[in-house]
Amino acid sequence: MSAPLTVRAAAKINLHLGVGAVRDDGFHPLDTVYQAVSLYDDVQVEPAEEWSVSTELASYLDDTALPAVGANIVDAVGRLLRRSGGPGAKVQISKAIPVAGGMAGGSADAAAAMVALDRLWDLETPDEQLLALAAELGSDVPFALLGGSARGLGRGELVTPLPDHGSYAWVVVPDELGLSTPAVYRHYDKLFPDAPAEPRPANRVLEALFVGDSGRLAVAMHNDLEEVAIDLRPDLGGLLARGEAEGALRGLVSGSGPTVVFLCESPESAQAVAAALQPQHPVTLLAHGPVAGAHLVEVM
Ligand code: ATP
Repeated sequence: MSAPLTVRAAAKINLHLGVGAVRDDGFHPLDTVYQAVSLYDDVQVEPAEEWSVSTELASYLDDTALPAVGANIVDAVGRLLRRSGGPGAKVQISKAIPVAGGMAGGSADAAAAMVALDRLWDLETPDEQLLALAAELGSDVPFALLGGSARGLGRGELVTPLPDHGSYAWVVVPDELGLSTPAVYRHYDKLFPDAPAEPRPANRVLEALFVGDSGRLAVAMHNDLEEVAIDLRPDLGGLLARGEAEGALRGLVSGSGPTVVFLCESPESAQAVAAALQPQHPVTLLAHGPVAGAHLVEVM
């Protein structure tokens, strides 16, 4: 019997999220810039006769938005990698990434499970093929494999790593209630029936990352879903204003929300902003980025 192995994958923030008009296949064309930040889910796998998936949550997460037994995205990873049949596995997910929060926690778990099961079952899937399988699983899964900072085109699944010469300090404020990504996109269609076919390009964010300057990045960041998330959840607008008033360079709704993130000038400034928000938002987290994509970790 081989020993359990653990793969870690990070949450993402969309530094830029340009959304075009809905396509005939139901997807929206995106021009997005992802950054992997230091909030992690761990996926541990070990050999077993049967297939099983269990989930353990960080104290600040609640399980209401978690999928039913058999419906975890990690179950889909198992089915995909075992196309030709094969053994079972005992999979344990330890979640710290907010669920249904716009930080792609499910995609992180999928990427981590791909790397872990590929190793457990000695599949030696080439990287290109892993990326292609990841895109089948979900738009954000290829980026979760890659990590760092990357541009995403298509529906976000066509990822290219970006030169990023900075390190950025973030405050992350998750919300108790998740927002459904499809519901946010449906609301986008309703609010913007005349959205342009082509998404707004990410150029200004690309330039800011290349220089590695937080101040420039703060000015350049843009999320087409922000207004939509605030329309569904007006309280997010107040939170954004509060964090900026407390000294953040810029607040932004993460992806489809409702998690709100604040870019700060330094780790010290992020600590001060987090401390100021904590009385009203007890679950306020610190993070930095960019960090690595799904990778094997030693667990003591
Ligand atoms: P994204 O930003 O990619 O749209 P998200 O962060 O808003 O995603 P997730 O946490 O990835 O949302 O979860 C979205 C939905 O996927 C949840 O409602 C949940 O039921 C389902 N899901 C399936 N597997 C998982 C998993 N391992 N972790 C979290 N959610 C999962």
